[in-house]
Amino acid sequence: MDFIKLEKYLQKIRQPEFRLEQIKKADFQELRDNWDEITALPKELRVKLKNHFPRWQSVHPAKLQISKDKLTFKALLKLKDHQAIETVLMRYRSWFTVCVSTQVGCPLGCKFCASGFCGFIRNLTSEEIVDQVAFWERTLQKGELKKFGPQNIKKRAVKKIVFMGMGEPFLNWKNVWKAMEILKDKNGLKMGERNMSISTIGFPEKIKEFAKLDSQINLAISLHSANENLRQKIMPATKKYSLKSLMESVKNYARKTRRKVFFEYLLLHNLTDRKEDAQKLAKLFTGKEKYLFHLNLIPFNPSGCNFRPSTSEHIKEFTKALKKLGLKFTLRKTFGQDIQAACGQLKIANSE
Ligand code: SAH
Repeated sequence: MDFIKLEKYLQKIRQPEFRLEQIKKADFQELRDNWDEITALPKELRVKLKNHFPRWQSVHPAKLQISKDKLTFKALLKLKDHQAIETVLMRYRSWFTVCVSTQVGCPLGCKFCASGFCGFIRNLTSEEIVDQVAFWERTLQKGELKKFGPQNIKKRAVKKIVFMGMGEPFLNWKNVWKAMEILKDKNGLKMGERNMSISTIGFPEKIKEFAKLDSQINLAISLHSANENLRQKIMPATKKYSLKSLMESVKNYARKTRRKVFFEYLLLHNLTDRKEDAQKLAKLFTGKEKYLFHLNLIPFNPSGCNFRPSTSEHIKEFTKALKKLGLKFTLRKTFGQDIQAACGQLKIANSE
C-alpha cells in the first residue's frame, strides 16, 4: 500500500493521526490483507478506504518454486502494470532471509548475470520493494510453507533482508531508501538496520553519499576482479569510474563508519581464480582500513552465458594464496541453484 497516498487521503477526510498507525500495524504486524479484517477502524471508514484503495498488495504471486533441499523458495511476483519480478526466501535453521529485487530487469549488463540479459524496464516503487518482504512474512505466518519444512514459525520469521535481487539499488536509491525507512518503522516490520544489506557494483559518488548517512546498513561491493580491464569487460557499467576511485570511496566509508565492507568476488574459471588474481586483490586492499575488508567468494551460478565455474582444485589454490597474503574471506554456499534462485539467476519472467 502506498502509505504516502494513504496519509494524504486520511488527512483529506479529516481522520485523526493515529488511524495511519493503526493501519500500518494491521498491515505489517498483524499481517492483515484486507480492510474488513481491521476491526479497530470504524466500519464507515473501512468502506471508504476499500473504495479508494481496493488493492492491498502491490505484488501478486504467480508462481512459487522450492529447491530440492527445501532451504530456498523463489516467487515470481506480478506487478500492477503486469510486469514481473522474482524474490527469494532463504531458510537458516529457525529464521529466514529475504532477497529483494529493486528494479524490473537491470541496466548494468554484467556479462555473467541473468538479471540484465533482457535489459532494463523500470524502477520498483518503495511499496513494491517492501511488499516483497511482506509477501514472504505473510506466506510464512499463514503456514503455507509448512509442508515443505518450516514448522513452528516465529511471530517475526524474516530476520534479514538483502537488496541483492534483480537491479542495482544505487540506481533506484530514493525508492530503496524509502523502502528501508518503511521496513524499519516501529509500527511496521521493525527491521533493524544491521539486518539489512545492500549490494552494488559500486558507484563512488553514491558510496560517498551513503557514508554520509551514517547508517548501520551493511554495504557489499560486487568487485569480482581486481584487474581493471577484465572488470570493465565483464561489468561494462564499471567503465564510468576507476577501481582507484572506487577503493577511495570505500576507504572513506570504512573510515567514517568503522563498519565492515564486504566484497563479492565471483570465482570464474581461469579468469578470476588464479594466484596472480589473489596478488592483485592484495594490492588493492591496502591502507589503514583494510582490516575492515572482507571477501565473499561466490561460486559462479550458471546463468545462460559462457563463463565456467572454478574447479575445486583452483578454489583450493586460490584460497591458499589469499590466506598467505593475509586477506580475510568466506567461501559462500550457493542457495537454490536447482530452481534458478541463486545469485545472478533472477530474471524478468520465468520462461518455463
Ligand atoms: N546490482 C547489484 C545487486 C545485485 S546483487 C550488484 O551488482 O551488486 C547480486 C550479486 O550476484 C552480485 O554480486 C552479482 O554480481 C552476483 N552475480 C551475478 N551473476 C552471478 C552468477 N552467475 N553467479 C554468481 N553470482 C552472480
